Amino acid sequence: MTIRLLPESVAARIAAGEVVERPASVVKELVENSLDAGATRIDVATRGGGRDLIQVRDNGMGIPPAELELAFRRHATSKLETAADLEHILTLGFRGEALASIASVSRVTCTTRHTDAEVGLRLRLEGGEIVARTPVGHPPGTELLIEDLFYNVPARRKFLRSERTERHHTDAFLTRYAIAYPHIAFTVMHDDTEILRTTGAGATREALIQVYGMDLGSHLLEIPPELTQEQSVQVRGFVGPTSAHRADRGYITIFINGRWVQDLRLTYAIIQAYHTLLPVKRFPIAFVSVVLPPEEVDVNVHPAKTEVRFRDADAVFRAVQRATRMTVTDAAPVAAAWQVAVSAPPPVDAGETRARLAALTPTPIQISLPSTPATFPDEAPPLTATPQQPAPPTRPSASPATLPPLRVIGQASTMFIIAEGPDGLYLIDQHAAHERVLYEQMLAQWTQGGIPSQPLLEPQAVTLPLDEAAWLEEQLPRLATLGLEVEPFGPGVFLVRATPAALKTLALGDLLSDIACGAQDRTPLDIALEEAMIRRICKRIAVKAGQALSHEEMTQLIQHLERTQNPRTCPHGRPTILQISVEQLARQFGRLG
Ligand code: ADP
Ligand code: MG
Repeated sequence: MTIRLLPESVAARIAAGEVVERPASVVKELVENSLDAGATRIDVATRGGGRDLIQVRDNGMGIPPAELELAFRRHATSKLETAADLEHILTLGFRGEALASIASVSRVTCTTRHTDAEVGLRLRLEGGEIVARTPVGHPPGTELLIEDLFYNVPARRKFLRSERTERHHTDAFLTRYAIAYPHIAFTVMHDDTEILRTTGAGATREALIQVYGMDLGSHLLEIPPELTQEQSVQVRGFVGPTSAHRADRGYITIFINGRWVQDLRLTYAIIQAYHTLLPVKRFPIAFVSVVLPPEEVDVNVHPAKTEVRFRDADAVFRAVQRATRMTVTDAAPVAAAWQVAVSAPPPVDAGETRARLAALTPTPIQISLPSTPATFPDEAPPLTATPQQPAPPTRPSASPATLPPLRVIGQASTMFIIAEGPDGLYLIDQHAAHERVLYEQMLAQWTQGGIPSQPLLEPQAVTLPLDEAAWLEEQLPRLATLGLEVEPFGPGVFLVRATPAALKTLALGDLLSDIACGAQDRTPLDIALEEAMIRRICKRIAVKAGQALSHEEMTQLIQHLERTQNPRTCPHGRPTILQISVEQLARQFGRLG
């Protein structure tokens, strides 16, 4: 084969592959263009998840009539003149690739009126070729209509996911930009249903509430602006209190100089800032915007412009981590202490305590851990070199895992139940134990036909972020088998009519969001999904640390725990019960050799 230069149309199609992956990438490029054009209103509409139609309309400066055709040529841009300009990019676009790429894989109608022009102009392209150009009446600004995306790239079109998934990607982008650009009024419609509207009044808090709903939006903590005022790296934004957390990292959003980026290191900086403040395997919520001199950051890493490189990555890492940490710890030192105690992986705290104990006592106390293997995430050394005590004798009738009869002595730190049994002292984590009890009860009810529910006196409205809402809506029949009667009530809003008896109205918003965001990406292996949902519900209803329990309540809890199949761990695998044998105590008191 001879070497030849590819025709422009083929080159554009190849380049398009990198810029236009799916409908969401089209929306991203078009909205970024509108923002660059100085728009204060941006209206987005899609049909068929964006395959059939994407429309983005703005009131920006428009495209001059003489340049309209040029805008659709590859490497045509008004945002860059020389290579040196690449050093200090202040616009979202600069590569001059988006319109050409989009046009080469769809049918485009661009209607625009430049601020200086008398009338508007409409250009139609199919597969990148101009097919019509007509003057039209149009308000100042630009409207791009993208139809039949990938109509001429069957491989890509086939590769697109369900309409819902494609909408989900689009919404993930738009909701973030609506928050990052609070002075811009966004509307988003999918198939004639309005799903987002921000006022553009300019307050980030307001935009957060409009996107995330009142429950979450109003509780996020603002990073105090003075925190990084003097530095060249400024960190702004909102982070979740330690009481709010999610099952994945999807709620951590990072903007660099007005651009949403995916940056693993900075995501990690934020997760780290919550170290020991959140339960294990839970992730914070954060909306962090970093502003730094444009020459300090290289945005020209990939055509999609979602990655950046920093000149001094460590400085940015530190600034983000420090701002986040200080905001979180200043807001809730007391709550944080509780959270650490309850939810951190046990060895973090227990390990320290044990180490201190070991230093104090000549023969360290040995606590026999549950016979069921408990998994400890860190590598804390075992307490002593002495082999573990044999498991305490069990009642003959019971299955091997169940507990010996226990007598409640009292409660310690409103967190642990102290009990006495045939072989010494037992410490029971009240929350973990209750979770276990509830979990087995609910799982049994569910397998026997469904968890009974109780109607709420007043149905409760719950607002969820759009992507979670879309997923949850499809799971409503499943939720019903779990005793949660929930019905859709407008975009992103659900009405909870009934709940499992014990749940009542306890933080229903958080619960539904937990269920949705934790389970979304799972392949719905039916049982596993419901089981995960049940675990989440139990976590919510179980007594918390800090809750004082009466003697009777404690006795009841232990009786219930005794009847479970796996009393020694909670549904998440942490131990529910620790034992100190009489022999160990005697040794500690110097009564044994
Ligand atoms: P880039 O944004 O990298 O410059 P694009 O292909 O996205 O490249 O756009 C090409 C040019 O078209 C832009 O530089 C800009 O001048 C013009 N343009 C695109 N969209 C708009 C819009 N919504 N309003 C005004 N001008 C626009
Ligand atoms: Mg652009």
